[in-house]
Amino acid sequence: MPLPADLPVVDHHCHLSPSGDGVRAAERFAREGGTDLFLTTHNWNHAPLRAVEDYRRQFEEMEALAGRIRTGTPVRVHLVVAPYPVDLVETAEALGLPAAVAVQEGALELAGRWVRDRRAVAIGEVGRPHFPVAPDRAAAAETVFRRALAVARESDCPAVVHSEDLDARGYRGVADLARAVGQPAGKVVKHYAREVVPTAGRAGIVPSFLARRDLVETVLDDPAPWFLETDFLDDPARPGAVMDLATVPRRASALVRDHPDLVDRLRTPFVESVRRVYGFDPTDGKERSG
Ligand SMILES: [Zn+2]
Repeated sequence: MPLPADLPVVDHHCHLSPSGDGVRAAERFAREGGTDLFLTTHNWNHAPLRAVEDYRRQFEEMEALAGRIRTGTPVRVHLVVAPYPVDLVETAEALGLPAAVAVQEGALELAGRWVRDRRAVAIGEVGRPHFPVAPDRAAAAETVFRRALAVARESDCPAVVHSEDLDARGYRGVADLARAVGQPAGKVVKHYAREVVPTAGRAGIVPSFLARRDLVETVLDDPAPWFLETDFLDDPARPGAVMDLATVPRRASALVRDHPDLVDRLRTPFVESVRRVYGFDPTDGKERSG
């Protein structure tokens, strides 16, 4: 049994790079039945970003790559832009901490403008390093994180969060940060969720689960909203560091093959959650950014 023709197949968080597989990875995704990519900016050059201008270039290069995917494949691309939170640590080594915070905040303003201009659908990844850093770095990251949530609220869009693994207490903490600036928890997505915290323990935050087979099977019955993602890195220096971009459509196909009765559950991450969190309907075939 093939994937239903009217079912979008969405990878909610991936990275592509002009120096990696790029369009070829998107072709692979499409060949397996994938239809929609939420493409998130990242620093593929591995050099510290020193100015807002560097982020502008990064966003523009990603937008150009999204354009090549749209021309060369049937995949719809939804851009997500922000200064990656771990960049803060690297920029601080190069410029000092106050200047690094200023670069991140300037890049967040830029990201907000891109959303308001409909060149991107969300602010992400924002948050904090997922590993321990010096206390002054950690405090600065929290300041920038709060600013990021405020920019999302001002731009009326979701914020996609990068952080350590969250338990119920962690989810509550992020929800509190969002509430303090007026950003609804339902428009805050915890990306790279790899532990299943029951819905009641997520404080309204939306998990984007890593598309591991066991996770997909565990969360399939959960009510919306939640997503599936690969966090594909497209980094030739780290092949196999994360899941391949073809993973989400392969999981969807396996489910349709093994449990045809469950196929409608896939509408939760691929249709209903996109509607609820992003406010658009992925079945209408239109793109919302670029
Ligand atoms: Zn990522």
